[in-house]
Amino acid sequence: MGLERKRCWVESANDPATDFPLENLPFGVFESDDLRRIGLAIGDRILDLHACEKAGLLGNLLSSQGLHALAGDGPAQPPPLRRVAVELLSEGSHRPQVEPLLISQRDVRMLPPFRIGDYTDFYASIHHATNVGRLFRPDNPLLPNYKWVPIGYHGRASSIVVSGAEIRRPCGQTKAPDAPEPAFGPSRMLDYELEMGFFVAEPNAPGHPIPIDLAEDHIFGLCLVNDWSARDIQSWEYQPLGPFLAKSFATTISPWVVTLDALEPFRVPAAPRPDGDPAPLPYLFSERDQQRGAFDIHLEVSLLTAKMRAAGEAPFRISRGNLRDLYWTPAQMLAHHASNGCNLRPGDLLATGTVSGAAPDSVGCLLERTRRGAEPLQLPNGEQRRFLDDGDEVILHGWCERDGFPRIGFGECRGVLVPPWQPGND
Ligand code: CA
Repeated sequence: MGLERKRCWVESANDPATDFPLENLPFGVFESDDLRRIGLAIGDRILDLHACEKAGLLGNLLSSQGLHALAGDGPAQPPPLRRVAVELLSEGSHRPQVEPLLISQRDVRMLPPFRIGDYTDFYASIHHATNVGRLFRPDNPLLPNYKWVPIGYHGRASSIVVSGAEIRRPCGQTKAPDAPEPAFGPSRMLDYELEMGFFVAEPNAPGHPIPIDLAEDHIFGLCLVNDWSARDIQSWEYQPLGPFLAKSFATTISPWVVTLDALEPFRVPAAPRPDGDPAPLPYLFSERDQQRGAFDIHLEVSLLTAKMRAAGEAPFRISRGNLRDLYWTPAQMLAHHASNGCNLRPGDLLATGTVSGAAPDSVGCLLERTRRGAEPLQLPNGEQRRFLDDGDEVILHGWCERDGFPRIGFGECRGVLVPPWQPGND
């Protein structure tokens, strides 16, 4: 259940515009004095959990819950520790002891919240799948398996970076439709993908599927994901085995993991399936999941070009969508992933795939937005984009809002593109 409403003595956490009120308390890992430390975001500060433990404020919760797993491996469940943190940050009597253990978010470097062993990317937005399918198969945009199988592929974990890291434009093999043969060079159709990811907390044993009704017990929490994609490399390499080097060069995530506990007030029913669509097969169907397994999370993409940055202009919002529009819920994706007995491990990242809605301004990548470059995006300063230029910075935001509840946000997921590698420029 949600946490009861209390006032926080960290003033920035009571600002209605903050992403990180007392009711959020997302987990992250940061570097301080060359050490990896686990913290909770509160307003514009971080509560250093290692310092809290050392001060005797957490009992053995940090160790006994395996939360060191955030920086290592092992199962992890957040709620009991968050409840203790709520007490520490709301009861004035704790303030003298706890306040010195807060660190400004500006003063630390964030690290990936887990050692991510495996990364799987789904394709759970039927709007995205249909829009992309239409570009390549106008008469038959959606393949016949889509409404039965949560489609996914195995992504690359080693190249996942946290918000703020530069993204180097990849080189690869591409072939223009009218060219006699392919060439190797920098991608000229570089794109972002607006997604959300969820981290696995509890493992399942090899060979043991996860029943859909228990699937959420295996989820630690959610973050923002930008699955950078080189469309020209992708279109030449993807058949017959799917995306490979078009995706594996980089994926950016937001550093704070928002727990399912914090998202409780923002649960919504799974998106209704149009008449005529099949019901999910029994291993993907749960009454409870259908009634409350989706999440009402607003998502936005903004773009800041080098020219805008030089002129001191603000990022321009390209699109906005909502996670609730997905065809499959996180529980369905996780249950499907484990349905063949595949074992998931703590720290594994499962991402939703590009989140697009039905409206033209709610699509989650430039491939859809510009129809593969045919209809360039007009920016307020007169610039145009078919795909991303070097110097472009893509910024994702996500947040929940509902009357009577404080806003719960995900922070930022940003990355700036830099020119491709060549000898001497690293
Ligand atoms: Ca993707």
